Amino acid sequence: MSIPHVIPPKTAKKPEINLYDRKNTVSATLVSNDRITSPDVESEIHHIVLDFGKQNFPVLEGQNIGIIPPGTNKRGRPHIARLYSIASARDGEWRNTNTLALTVKRVTYEENGETKSGLASSYVCDLSIGDEVQVTGPFGDTFLMPNNPDANIIMICTGTGAAPFRAMTERRRRQPDVPGQLKLYFGARTEGELPYFDSLNKLSNKLINKQLVFSREAGKPKKYVQHHMLDESNELAELLKSPETYVYICGLRDMELGVEEAFDEICSDADLNWETLKNEMKSSGRYHVETY
Ligand SMILES: Cc1cc2nc3c(=O)[nH]c(=O)nc-3n(C[C@H](O)[C@H](O)[C@H](O)COP(=O)(O)OP(=O)(O)OC[C@H]3O[C@@H](n4cnc5c(N)ncnc54)[C@H](O)[C@@H]3O)c2cc1C
Repeated sequence: MSIPHVIPPKTAKKPEINLYDRKNTVSATLVSNDRITSPDVESEIHHIVLDFGKQNFPVLEGQNIGIIPPGTNKRGRPHIARLYSIASARDGEWRNTNTLALTVKRVTYEENGETKSGLASSYVCDLSIGDEVQVTGPFGDTFLMPNNPDANIIMICTGTGAAPFRAMTERRRRQPDVPGQLKLYFGARTEGELPYFDSLNKLSNKLINKQLVFSREAGKPKKYVQHHMLDESNELAELLKSPETYVYICGLRDMELGVEEAFDEICSDADLNWETLKNEMKSSGRYHVETY
């Protein structure tokens, strides 16, 4: 069976892409930098807001931007850009401003027995108000949200994979009385490690059906997003039967297989064939995965 090309939702707005590259960057100013995971947990994730002033930088929910860390690599060449998903709606972090938000996790790794920090992620997490950042992009022309108001959007994520879903949710929040459902499955180890935990809890159930799933809460059984999806098999099967349902998966690469297996099980219990349905959804721009 041939694998269908990934295409955007048919009703998605056409995105602008590649307006700026490493030879022609756009400079943005940092206007806000807040840690959004508890100070007492290892996972350090920041909500970052950049202001593009009067410069042209149009974006859509689901797109990414590149950030170039200052300085040069061991060979004296400029560092390459790292990609970050946009976490705000197309009309700005604050309505009708030329700003956008990012959700950035400080990456750490072990080298010769020492804990080291990732270059770009620690550069971004350590930025101060007023700092200038060199940006490329915008990038991405498929992982976009449908514009039709009756579209149901199932969003499945872990960690910073929440960024595009914050953007899509914010877009819907600014369009009152849209009939399509928003359904979020969001996994983290604990409440303290789930970015946007407090602000998510403030969103109305009418706007978004949010299912927060924890794998390391004291005294509770380990649960991952795919386990919770199976708990809601009937509801998900009904949603999958609708030609107006779109599925988006974003976050750690490891989660994709478990989520696919859950969809497979949900479908077989509902007399649907997941492989056939997935290919049909892909070829109509209704199934999107962005893992890294
Ligand atoms: C489409 C896409 C969207 C993304 N969106 C987001 C997002 O919204 N938020 C987010 O936080 N991230 C996102 N990322 C990831 C992001 O682009 C970066 O990859 C991430 O921030 C790490 O970059 P860094 O420069 O901090 O780490 P780097 O310095 O590049 O290090 C990355 C890894 O390389 C290894 N490494 C590097 N140097 C050494 C060394 N000397 N010895 C041993 N190992 C080493 C380590 O494993 C380390 O973890 C996205 C990636 C993609 C592809």
